[in-house]
Amino acid sequence: MNTTEPTRLTPKQYKSDIKPVWCKGCGDFSVIAAITRGLSQLQLPRENVAFVSGIGCSSRIPAYSAVYGFHGVHGRALPIATGLKLARPELTVLVAGGDGDGFSIGGNHFMHSCRRNVDLTYVVMDNSVYGMTKGQASPTTASDWTGSKLTPEGPGMPPFRPLEIALSAGANFISRATANDPNGMAEQIVEAIRHPGFSLVHVLCPCVTYRPEQQELFKARAHADWQSTTERAEAMHRLADDDGYTTGILYQGDRPAFMPPAEPRATLEQIETEFRI
Ligand code: SF4
Repeated sequence: MNTTEPTRLTPKQYKSDIKPVWCKGCGDFSVIAAITRGLSQLQLPRENVAFVSGIGCSSRIPAYSAVYGFHGVHGRALPIATGLKLARPELTVLVAGGDGDGFSIGGNHFMHSCRRNVDLTYVVMDNSVYGMTKGQASPTTASDWTGSKLTPEGPGMPPFRPLEIALSAGANFISRATANDPNGMAEQIVEAIRHPGFSLVHVLCPCVTYRPEQQELFKARAHADWQSTTERAEAMHRLADDDGYTTGILYQGDRPAFMPPAEPRATLEQIETEFRI
């Protein structure tokens, strides 16, 4: 009889040996720590996990993990991940990016990924700034932020509210974490991966270089008040009162994850015939 205990993969074994180029103190370090902790907790075989990203500081994250990765183009992480999940449904597909990548150029994909409800886990590192391109206002920047020379009087428009959009558009799991609490974030990531359909984990993630005030601000203002609800109306009600710093799992819905039929309805030849002119 074989009494050897199966070897458990540690969080470190989900990390690659590439050293992150992020600025010292960047919140993204917490996120890679939480993700690898979550993967270790789930003991997912590394060859069965794929990590897709777009462009930006946070989108470098697949290179720092030891699972399969794809560093895509700006704003297009979600359609790439959707195609991958539909073609290889047995994989656990994680998607990562920032507020600029995900909610600006990728905003349309974000909305429709929520609506489609393909089984993906999307971790958004939100620092309300374009860090990689040296500190411009992003879709989640407050209207009166004057930190960029491009918008010296502030962007002048209210910030995008990603959780409200996600809930309205049909996301099946919605939570918010902070980089100050990697353990809490890891728990949310585990639940997000376990939950079927499209999951959004929104992370308040300081950019120490272009938004240095965020470190203290997130620490001081974050409050863990959400207990998960399965009622959309209740979740929407909570979001109406949200100050942007409430953390926890907000919503776990019961929509079945979208998957196309196993057998294609038409052959490639039939499709070509249909479109021939
Ligand atoms: Fe992180 Fe900001 Fe540095 Fe980018 S610029 S690595 S977001 S601290």
